[in-house]
Amino acid sequence: MFKQLTQAQLDPILSLSIAYREDRRADKMDLGIGVYRNSQGETPIMQAVQQAQQYLLATQTTKAYVGLAGNEVFNQSMMNLLLSGTSAHSRAAAVQTPGASGALRMLADLMCLAQPDTTVWLTNPSYVNHKPVMEAAGLTVKYYPYFDYATKQVNSDAMLAELAKAGPKDVVLLHGCCHNPTGADISFADWQAVTALANKNGFLPFVDIAYQGFGDGLEQDAAGLKYMADNIEEMIVATSCSKNFGLYRERTGAAIVISDSLQEAQKAKGRILQLARSTYTMPPDHGAAVVATILTDDDLTAVWKQELVEMHGRLLSLRAGLTKAIRAQGSDSFDFIEKHKGMFSVTGLSPEQIERLRKEFAIYAVGDGRVNIAGLQEQQIDYLANALLTVSQ
Ligand code: PMP
Repeated sequence: MFKQLTQAQLDPILSLSIAYREDRRADKMDLGIGVYRNSQGETPIMQAVQQAQQYLLATQTTKAYVGLAGNEVFNQSMMNLLLSGTSAHSRAAAVQTPGASGALRMLADLMCLAQPDTTVWLTNPSYVNHKPVMEAAGLTVKYYPYFDYATKQVNSDAMLAELAKAGPKDVVLLHGCCHNPTGADISFADWQAVTALANKNGFLPFVDIAYQGFGDGLEQDAAGLKYMADNIEEMIVATSCSKNFGLYRERTGAAIVISDSLQEAQKAKGRILQLARSTYTMPPDHGAAVVATILTDDDLTAVWKQELVEMHGRLLSLRAGLTKAIRAQGSDSFDFIEKHKGMFSVTGLSPEQIERLRKEFAIYAVGDGRVNIAGLQEQQIDYLANALLTVSQ
């Protein structure tokens, strides 16, 4: 049966990681794959996570099934993180999913079930997996103008002009914060404008938030989403604990449906559970149990928040340091790096320039020009500044 299959294309980011591992140059630098790294280049287990794991190890008495929706304490905690203080909090329902990836797919399946001829509008460019996941669920994908390669910021006017054309058959996917891949976020005024358009024209907002805490802080990063949730009857959210709890491989995330009533939100949740039943059935327990343990314990929550502040602080200082080093070498053309949010920045370098970075400097970045700022170590800042300037001249 399978002989007739053609080879799968290698994932560009994963194949970059393999090439990096095989590179023998001592000064090599991995700015490719999207994981947070500390000053030693490691992706450590957070202290709060370690403590929660120890607690779970000591107290867990069974590995029996948890249930289709996963850990309900986790689900509630995710809604608290994203929606507390809004009117949406009491008319929302959450399902634990295998990462935000699982949430994206379950929500896409839900949309397909409710309205098969839905078109999902993505930012141009967007997270590399958005299009394949939406299309695999059977939805149509279209892009709206977002990143302006000249300014390296969001072109709000172009974005809003295009979104004004979206209607009731459309879903507009927004990045909650720390846009992947560009690093350019919409302003609070943009959140307000998109909310007004959704209310006027009837499209459904879909927020993917995978980096809460990495942009301006835990509360600040949810401000746009909260405004929208407060002022709209229906929207959906995919959220991830991969980055802000460092739980990547534990596959921990949630799908949230906000409706005009709790009853409607619960109905949608019930349909997601039915969809989950026919795919993976239940999400893995461990990551969600860790997060629930942390977020229901004041001391552990404080430890986690402090660690998140430190991770965020490292990103800010790397961004400032790199911009400063490039300026010191005589150019202000990379000042946008300091303005971008989160781990990523799209540099505007062409695939050929990215290739030069790899060949001449052993610096690995994604072909679309995205660099992961967290992959940088403090002592490498001048080296990277020089490399960026050399290939961009
Ligand atoms: N959405 C965005 C915007 C992402 O960047 C990512 C992964 N980096 C995901 C979703 C998927 O995350 P997870 O590991 O939780 O599946």
